Amino acid sequence: MTNGLHQPFPIAPPAAKALEVLHAAGYEAWIVGGCVRDFLLGLSPKDYDITTSALPEETKRVFQGCHVIETGIRHGTVTVVLEGEPLEITTYRVDGGYSDARHPDQVTFTRSLREDAARRDFTMNAIAYAPGEGLRDFFGGWEDIQNAQIRAVGDPEIRFREDALRILRGIRFASVLGFSLEAATEQAARKEAGRLSNISAERIAAELGKLLRGKDAGRVLQTYPDILGQVIPELLPMTGFDQRNHHHCYDLLTHTAVAVDHVPPVLPLRLAALLHDVGKPRCFSLGEDGEGHFYGHARESVAMAGEILRRLRFPNAVREKTETLIRYHDSVIEEDPRLVRRWLNRLGEETFFDLLSLQRGDTAALAPAYCTRQNHFDRLETLAREILAETPCLQIRDLAVNGHELMAMGLQGREIGAALRFLLDQVLEGTISNEKEELMQFLHKYLAKKPGV
Ligand code: ATP
Ligand code: MG
Repeated sequence: MTNGLHQPFPIAPPAAKALEVLHAAGYEAWIVGGCVRDFLLGLSPKDYDITTSALPEETKRVFQGCHVIETGIRHGTVTVVLEGEPLEITTYRVDGGYSDARHPDQVTFTRSLREDAARRDFTMNAIAYAPGEGLRDFFGGWEDIQNAQIRAVGDPEIRFREDALRILRGIRFASVLGFSLEAATEQAARKEAGRLSNISAERIAAELGKLLRGKDAGRVLQTYPDILGQVIPELLPMTGFDQRNHHHCYDLLTHTAVAVDHVPPVLPLRLAALLHDVGKPRCFSLGEDGEGHFYGHARESVAMAGEILRRLRFPNAVREKTETLIRYHDSVIEEDPRLVRRWLNRLGEETFFDLLSLQRGDTAALAPAYCTRQNHFDRLETLAREILAETPCLQIRDLAVNGHELMAMGLQGREIGAALRFLLDQVLEGTISNEKEELMQFLHKYLAKKPGV
């Protein structure tokens, strides 16, 4: 938090230009929301939102001659392309009622910046700034940023009832910024969390994705299982679930939260860490020795994760990758080149390394006596890198012979595929090397012994 109130913000030229043009035409114009918050945090903004007293038609007139797109004209938003950059310029507005807890029924334009700030979700997102004018901070946003607090603008219960997505946005910001929810905001968030059922799956998935990739995702998961349980009810039985197993020192939700924090902030990996053990409560059994067991939990977790990610409409590629990681999260990968080649063949390079990351994270969340297996993963990683460095043959397409050559040898139809699979198998096993002559000789010998592979 280095910038504070005194230095001018280094606004990117297209946004600065847009403010200048609107000012010159006699309108008020400010950057507002996430970009101001990011400047105050000493971060560089991803994009700029501009708010102005000009009505949409007026904005269009001011930017005559520029490329103007009527993105959300009903809500007062016009996109202007300046110096190749699209900029969203929105008229000051007051949102009407929210009968569906989702969309404002109507919006009314206003010439008052304060009214526009009052419709925004959190005080830290309601600060406006313009060069030469400085900050306009009507609700104590800067102070809240300095105290790392997320506070609703106005009465938090009313604001969350208007739009329940704000609840998820609140805990998403907590995770991404490492902030806490101010007490009344937190209380209202918990109280109104049931209204998240009104929010579309896509919007929930977008927030959840950002939340999970945040630096404090584990803490947020542990602090707000009740809120997250409204969007993923399968998390609720994990809260406080005693695993009764000597490998574990944490209840299931805490174990999950620690694992999430110990995998890189990449969406399928974080989702896999979140859901890798979601099937455990259903698979629990108690051994005669008093140890808890979870036979088949990886398979159950894959099924549940698939259902959750479908329901929330995550992209298929994200879901499938997450499912694969969960399927093998508990598989022991031995430090044997032959077996590592098999894993690389089965998963492909990227997923193999992601699986190692997930297993590292899962292991880091075990009881202290079992956390020490990280050396195993270091050795596996080195081994896999060595294999990959020596132009490996991991798929049929990598073989030094191809189908045409086998056809020329007299093989036909399915025999060709079977022969290629057989050769790949031998190469993975290390019986033969991936040299054309050696492969051909081996195949000749094999076919002589056993015609029709
Ligand atoms: P980021 O872009 O980093 O995710 P942001 O704060 O810029 O964060 P956006 O979704 O881009 O978030 O929204 C821009 C601004 O619009 C916010 O800063 C806030 O002022 C306002 N806003 C966004 N969503 C809501 C909402 N659901 N209710 C009230 N105000 C909102
Ligand atoms: Mg933004």
